[in-house]
Amino acid sequence: MNTGGCFCGAVRYEVSAPLTAVAYCHCSKCRKWHGHVGAYAAVDREGFRLTEARGLKWHSVSPTVRRGFCVECGSSVLFDESPDPKISLCAGSLDAPTGIREKVHVYTGSKGDYYEIADGLLKYDTFPGK
Ligand SMILES: [Zn+2]
Ligand SMILES: [Zn+2]
Repeated sequence: MNTGGCFCGAVRYEVSAPLTAVAYCHCSKCRKWHGHVGAYAAVDREGFRLTEARGLKWHSVSPTVRRGFCVECGSSVLFDESPDPKISLCAGSLDAPTGIREKVHVYTGSKGDYYEIADGLLKYDTFPGK
């Protein structure tokens, strides 16, 4: 069981299914939304449950993608793309110990020009399978 939430506690969740490894997304939308690279772990929707949602607001990015954040403290918390069977959690919103590790960089083809990716993780120009 993992738990997590925003900075102030107005958004909280629990996870009762295995989390994926962490993916870093370098796309321009994630960099805007997070202030830098996005870091996500995903879980099957049936294994995800909100336990506090009074601060949760969804920002629709497109007809199939929405991003969930806390209106009280501004934390980025959720990334939801339908009809993906998994929902993505911002890795930084997870409480420690998370039990997971980083694994992959995606959308490196649109990364920012102000940094280099200097680790040995897998890299994809877009998204694996796209
Ligand atoms: Zn909050
Ligand atoms: Zn992204």
